[in-house]
Amino acid sequence: MTSQRTRDRMVARLRERGIADETVLAAMSAVPRHLFVDAALASRAYEDTALPIGFEQTISQPYIVARMLECARAGRELARALEVGTGCGYQAAVLAQIAKEVYSIERIAALAEKARANLRGLRLRNLRLVHGDGYEGLPEVAPFDAIVVAAAAPQVPQALLDQLGRGARLVIPVGTATQELRVIERTAAGFRESRLDAVKFVPLRAGKG
Ligand code: SAH
Repeated sequence: MTSQRTRDRMVARLRERGIADETVLAAMSAVPRHLFVDAALASRAYEDTALPIGFEQTISQPYIVARMLECARAGRELARALEVGTGCGYQAAVLAQIAKEVYSIERIAALAEKARANLRGLRLRNLRLVHGDGYEGLPEVAPFDAIVVAAAAPQVPQALLDQLGRGARLVIPVGTATQELRVIERTAAGFRESRLDAVKFVPLRAGKG
């Protein structure tokens, strides 16, 4: 139930649903998602659903992780990427297969610790976890080639736009009761926004937990 074969079946389903970026699919195939959920849920780790990780938070559905990372990459090489909302650390681990240098911020200290424990065995030397408020991003490390936000904001946070490099992309669910995935690209002329699928994320909350 937790084997490479199970993971390959998950990847085949992602392909069927339209994920075409081979780099993203290879990353999804490489990261053992069952290591990021409680042992009692491990047998369900490769179903295409969100699952509880404690503190009223969830591990994102595999399709959504793949979709967000495909949009963030847009076929480019990513040197430096930021994730907001580490949660259990799964998406951060997938992103670390794709980008050269990855930072991930989590506001709830206990979840940041849990992610650290989940990730230890994978030895991802290019991934740094930060306990902090993702609304502020990481100005000291910016600019980023991609920023992926794993919680829904009522509006796009200005600080995250400011931390996009030229040609970089922010992928973020926006809304409260109803939400949509948005991709904002920083171009020479300013920001270009596209609106994608309707989604359902936990809320982005201000301040450290
Ligand atoms: N990336 C995770 C999904 C985590 S759910 C995965 O791979 O499955 C979203 C996470 O965002 C929660 O852990 C929540 O605590 C966190 N979060 C919410 N608001 C935040 C903020 N302002 N800064 C950082 N993390 C935040």
